[in-house]
Amino acid sequence: MEKKLRVLIIGAGTGGLCLAHGLKRAGIAVRVFERDRTRQDGLHGYRVGISPAGSYAMKQCLPPELFDLFVATCARAPRYFNMLTEQLSEVLSFDAPEGDDPIDSEKSVSRMTLRQVLLTGLEDVVEFDKKFERFDYNTDGTVTAFFEDGSNATGDVLVGADGAGSRVRKQRLPNARMEETGILSVGGKVAMTAEAKGLLSDKVFNGISLVMAPRGYGAILHVMEFKWDRHGVKTGVGGNDAELISQWPGMLYDNTRDYIMWGVWGARQRLPQDPTKLAQVQQLEMVKEMVKGWHPNMRRLIELTDPSTVFSINIRTSVPPEPWSSSCVTLLGDAVHTMTPGRGVGANTALRDAELLCRRLIEVRDAKAELVAALHAYEAEMLEYSRDAVIDSRKQMDAKDPIHKPVLGSVLLVGMRTGMRLVNAVPALKKKMAEKQMRLRKIKEESGLQKQASMA
Ligand SMILES: Cc1cc2nc3c(=O)[nH]c(=O)nc-3n(C[C@H](O)[C@H](O)[C@H](O)COP(=O)(O)OP(=O)(O)OC[C@H]3O[C@@H](n4cnc5c(N)ncnc54)[C@H](O)[C@@H]3O)c2cc1C
Repeated sequence: MEKKLRVLIIGAGTGGLCLAHGLKRAGIAVRVFERDRTRQDGLHGYRVGISPAGSYAMKQCLPPELFDLFVATCARAPRYFNMLTEQLSEVLSFDAPEGDDPIDSEKSVSRMTLRQVLLTGLEDVVEFDKKFERFDYNTDGTVTAFFEDGSNATGDVLVGADGAGSRVRKQRLPNARMEETGILSVGGKVAMTAEAKGLLSDKVFNGISLVMAPRGYGAILHVMEFKWDRHGVKTGVGGNDAELISQWPGMLYDNTRDYIMWGVWGARQRLPQDPTKLAQVQQLEMVKEMVKGWHPNMRRLIELTDPSTVFSINIRTSVPPEPWSSSCVTLLGDAVHTMTPGRGVGANTALRDAELLCRRLIEVRDAKAELVAALHAYEAEMLEYSRDAVIDSRKQMDAKDPIHKPVLGSVLLVGMRTGMRLVNAVPALKKKMAEKQMRLRKIKEESGLQKQASMA
């Protein structure tokens, strides 16, 4: 006999919404509570790279036609991963895995568009303007969530999917720690004009490019081209995609248009100022100062940036927590494993959590597992793979890294560039490095059993 479950999810972000779809499809009662006042609020404009692992999780959880819409609304996929000097000369470049398999491919999405896609079909599930405050365990085994507006909701399971600053985590795991990496980043967007396009080489225009600069500074460039513009679906877009996009009501809320996105970062002690304390225009001025000696095209790109798109981030990371004793309150995504964007796997790991947790809750629905035992099994597996992702992401962005030291950093930069140029020149080495880079992003072997799991 099926067990009736009521699941409460705090946070309508990437992981929470993916889980909500999976549960809804499985006929499990689910409610999502989101602090944003409307579906258009929040900072959702930057690029997120979705790996095969992330696509696989969405394929399992989303209704089939919504997964197709997700694929149709992705930006053009990158063809190259480039490493450049600040003078935009190539030190290493490898091809992105080819193919347009809807799952086994790298995808670029606008965070705003992804959110609108994931909100589609959940209009009766997501409640906006509901800022979670705290929860109470009840004597009958249920849990009640309380909100700042004085309302509350009771369910059998509470999932904290409320991101890096998670209030659910703060109450559930008061000893879990977050640390500053000491890296501060500023990002911005440039509208895709002929001038902006002309500043980029073919490989940069068609790829993702990472700049390794003096002073330990780094930068990233993404080119985001979509299948639509302000007039609707672009001409030349294939039949099925054109139909899916033009019939999608979420387009009403999406303001995404073609853009070039950049991010520039450095260690706090080596930046001219703390950008998180500056207004957008001043943040942009600070970046102009940081890139003063860089290639003129990069400087011009920064000059062309729309100041209203500029945002700064103090990059933090969680310290992987020790296993805890499970209850009917659990966590997923950034709420339990915030990681630096260094590896581009935060959202993908949140999606993987959602798929795994959904599968465990289906076992409870089918009376194949007891609730707390199922949540424990989820937490044990999630903690293991997320620990690796958190540690690996931190290695990419940490102010303690010697690359940020004044003299030693310059020597290391020369060494790294020389090593990469060597790899670039030797095809066998290049292939090996490309495979290593992609390993984290693949669907893990151990989750092969997911392929057999039925979400129905
Ligand atoms: C610049 C940048 C680039 C990135 N690029 C990539 C990438 O390429 N690939 C990748 O995999 N990841 C990337 N990430 C990381 C990725 O964005 C996050 O890991 C991912 O969004 C986490 O999803 P989540 O569902 O856990 O949390 P979120 O998506 O942050 O969602 C949390 C939700 O909870 C809501 N919330 C918070 N508090 C409350 C409350 N008290 N009550 C109710 N609701 C609340 C928030 O409003 C939000 O909607 C990037 C991050 C940044 C900043």
